[in-house]
Amino acid sequence: MFVQRTYRYRLYPTRRQAGALAAQLRFACELYNAALEQRRWAYRRCGKSVGYHAQSAELTELRRQAPGLCPPEGMNCWSAQEVLRRLDRAFAAFFRRVKRGEKAGYPRFRSARRFDTLAWTMKGHAGGVAVTEEGRLRLQGVGCLKVKWHRSVPTEATLGEVRVTRRGSGPRARFYVSICAELPDPPSRPATGQAVGIDLGVRRLVSLSTGEQLEGPRAEREASSAVRRAARRVARRKRGSQRRRKAAALLARRREREANRRRDSAHKLSRTLVERFDLIAVESLRVANMMRSARGTVAEPATNVAQKRSLNRAIADQSWAQMLSFLAYKAEEAGRRVVKVDPANTSRTCSACGAVDARSRSAKRFRCIACGRADDADVNAANVILARALAQEGIERPGRGRQAQTAALAAVA
Ligand SMILES: [Zn+2]
Repeated sequence: MFVQRTYRYRLYPTRRQAGALAAQLRFACELYNAALEQRRWAYRRCGKSVGYHAQSAELTELRRQAPGLCPPEGMNCWSAQEVLRRLDRAFAAFFRRVKRGEKAGYPRFRSARRFDTLAWTMKGHAGGVAVTEEGRLRLQGVGCLKVKWHRSVPTEATLGEVRVTRRGSGPRARFYVSICAELPDPPSRPATGQAVGIDLGVRRLVSLSTGEQLEGPRAEREASSAVRRAARRVARRKRGSQRRRKAAALLARRREREANRRRDSAHKLSRTLVERFDLIAVESLRVANMMRSARGTVAEPATNVAQKRSLNRAIADQSWAQMLSFLAYKAEEAGRRVVKVDPANTSRTCSACGAVDARSRSAKRFRCIACGRADDADVNAANVILARALAQEGIERPGRGRQAQTAALAAVA
């Protein structure tokens, strides 16, 4: 058994290297759009579908006829074909959605400004990428790039795809490299005998069924005041002006910094939970909300309170979704269990007697109108989540004491 991990590092290309990367990105974008156009055209005009294999063979033929012209000098062959595979995956996803009867969304043409990822591979004989003895990343057609290796890739890892991503544009663009690695399954952690339910707040705090509150990713809209200031500055400046471009670059940097911060704290929180608990119960998030917010409309003004609230909720969901995906893989590696439960009415249900009533909840306090039990509203919700998970897993609901919980978990293990 293996686990997949991705290691991400900052790259520091020289000006010339950044230029070479930009040229390859431009070409990759052109190729993507041309291949998309070919598929559209063939289908519209002759009802014929052109697939990856045909396009890839054609690219090879073009390269043979005009070496150096297509693609730019020295671009790795696998990298160029990867662009066609990316398009192929976009179509596969499109057909999958059509089949399921979802809103399909035909693959779109991409603008050169937004096309910001190139891929190489360390697998097989494709070549094109290597780490030199001096610890630089050698990319075919680009050169040997300086990397900030802030943590090491384990030596027993088998390296796979290497993706280089550009953030921002112009001379201040920043580059990152993500290295996919396959690691042998690590030994699972010793059981702790503890189960926990967690309530993910709209703000940054997560409440545990144990009564604790831990710091989570800062998700609320207010946290991004720096981002909003930058966004207002962009809006004030004239379209197409140099000053507007500058302001847009600043906005992109601030957004990125915020995303990095969120990612860090999501890693921290998920690690803590996995270290302490065998079973972690969470609400399953509303996917529709997350999808809507995934397009990134953070800077758009919300006009009324309800809208504002739903926007906050959507942003929170998005950053919690990231935390939960980290939690899922960390839990899997450590041999822990994450149980997702139905989120309906968790804040209106009493964790002691199970009575559901909106009147039990008032702001931050919960006071059951059926049995009189009082607790912090979020901690009560976390306990409801835990109880649902235990019921779902067929574990008898233990009492509130630690011993009871440990015994119940041991019975299942
Ligand atoms: Zn009650």
